[in-house]
Amino acid sequence: MNLSKNQDILIVGGGIIGLSLARSLRNRGVDKITILEQNECGREASHAAAGMLAPQAEADCADDFFRFCQESRDLYPQFAEDLFSETGVDVELDRTGTLYLAFTEKDAEELENRYTWQKNANLSVEKLTAKEVLEIEPNVSPDVLFGLRFPLDWQVENRKIIEALIKLLPKQKGSVQKPVNSDGSFSGKARRLLLEGDRITGVETDLGVLSASIVVIASGAWTSLIEDKFNLLSDIKIKPMRGQMLAFNDNYKLFRHVIYSPRGYLVPRKNNRILVGATVEDVGFDNHTTGLGTVSLLNTAFEIAPEFKNLSLKKTWAGLRPLAADGLPVIGAIPEIENLFVATAHYRNGILLAPKTAEILADKIVGNADSKYLEIFSPRRFRSEAILS
Ligand SMILES: Cc1cc2nc3c(=O)[nH]c(=O)nc-3n(C[C@H](O)[C@H](O)[C@H](O)COP(=O)(O)OP(=O)(O)OC[C@H]3O[C@@H](n4cnc5c(N)ncnc54)[C@H](O)[C@@H]3O)c2cc1C
Repeated sequence: MNLSKNQDILIVGGGIIGLSLARSLRNRGVDKITILEQNECGREASHAAAGMLAPQAEADCADDFFRFCQESRDLYPQFAEDLFSETGVDVELDRTGTLYLAFTEKDAEELENRYTWQKNANLSVEKLTAKEVLEIEPNVSPDVLFGLRFPLDWQVENRKIIEALIKLLPKQKGSVQKPVNSDGSFSGKARRLLLEGDRITGVETDLGVLSASIVVIASGAWTSLIEDKFNLLSDIKIKPMRGQMLAFNDNYKLFRHVIYSPRGYLVPRKNNRILVGATVEDVGFDNHTTGLGTVSLLNTAFEIAPEFKNLSLKKTWAGLRPLAADGLPVIGAIPEIENLFVATAHYRNGILLAPKTAEILADKIVGNADSKYLEIFSPRRFRSEAILS
């Protein structure tokens, strides 16, 4: 498809994926972009996230997904710098690195394996004795057996990214008939795709029809609830996976690194906060926190650093990660509907993967450029043969 710069693009969903795509499209000269958001932009998973940019810490092999994650991580220094120059918002990219700690024999075995394959693959990873761990992070539990340090696994303040991206949203003006959110997105819920032949003509919302030349679905965990006559989105079967988080007050700056164990992680943030995450729960669209979730996160925190018993617990929250059946992102053109695209199912890595997702999809929409990742993560893999034949 060759996009004329005058065509209007409708993006359904104003999370980090939809907002990053809007920015990338604008940077490629597209000026008619509308975000349709049922809530407020960036208040769902993209708000709940811990902001880790960690392709290596949990990876067990160098597959396509791992390389996609690495390539997106490598975009982050420029992404952060550009967002600062475009908006004045510092997204707090922190390159101190990530520690992964072993506390049991089973943990030790898992970490040894990870160290061996990553070292053999010439990736940046260091093995630290317990003494070395305690030298760089003295508030870690003395029960630690040893640790791995991943100097290139970083963190960022995801809520600042949202703040920056919202500043870049085109402000809707007088000719618009639909209600507009304070962040500049259209207020409304996409209910149904309007298809004519092999094209989408627009989206039916709870407030009326929005027409567009090109539609991109970036509606996270809710993607498969949007209807259409071929069940194009419901067949992708995106489901929500709840993640609960805690935030502690930390006036003493107890940690410098992001610190993992196989049971969870700590993320030290500016503003004297430490995040503890996260549960992974298959409970539908319920995004409440629970007693059990909080207790399991507290136990994770106490194991990594008993000092948490003395810190004040400030906040708990939960968000819904979008998950596809094979656990991989779903990015690209919907087969046989030539002006309909999707970008979702980033599951536990949507903050990390936002810049690369936006780049490859914007290049496809504007310049018809085919990244190999659009093939690998294509929604075609979920297509029911019966539908479009
Ligand atoms: C607890 C937790 C911790 C996480 N930690 C990390 C981390 O450390 N690093 C990392 O990389 N990732 C992390 N993630 C994952 C990351 O947050 C997600 O992958 C990412 O935010 C998904 O972005 P999104 O834009 O697809 O979805 P969302 O942020 O959920 O945005 C989707 C938007 O679409 C809107 N929408 C949905 N349906 C409709 C509709 N029909 N009409 C209009 N609007 C609609 C929603 O209101 C929402 O605003 C974490 C997630 C959770 C929950």
